[in-house]
Amino acid sequence: MAESLKGACLCGGVEYEVTDPQALGYCHCTRCQRWTGESLAGVVVAADNFQFTSGEDQVSTYESEFAPRNFCSNCGSALYDDLGDNYFVAAGLMRELDMDPSFHLQVAFKAPWHTIGDDVPQFAENPPD
Ligand SMILES: [Zn+2]
Ligand SMILES: [Zn+2]
Repeated sequence: MAESLKGACLCGGVEYEVTDPQALGYCHCTRCQRWTGESLAGVVVAADNFQFTSGEDQVSTYESEFAPRNFCSNCGSALYDDLGDNYFVAAGLMRELDMDPSFHLQVAFKAPWHTIGDDVPQFAENPPD
């Protein structure tokens, strides 16, 4: 059976479940910096494997230039970045998450005051296909 993980926003109004999480990593792009205050630690999940279990009517979407960003309209928690076939789901909301990070994306754009403290692969932009 595929692994499943529950997530909840800061206020608890929005809850969701993901199955078969693919990988945990960080995006250091300037959009993520503005959205979260620093980088976005996220889990790659197929869009079909993400289900809201409560509070879907409380979710708002910001149509950013690159991908729609979904967040809780009550507490402001970042929920996920909608990449089409995949979602990049904010890792901090899934308290049972037990994966090691495996990538850093968009490192060319990271905040100059942020030092990456692990030695997993870093990509200047996105990884090659
Ligand atoms: Zn909330
Ligand atoms: Zn980003």
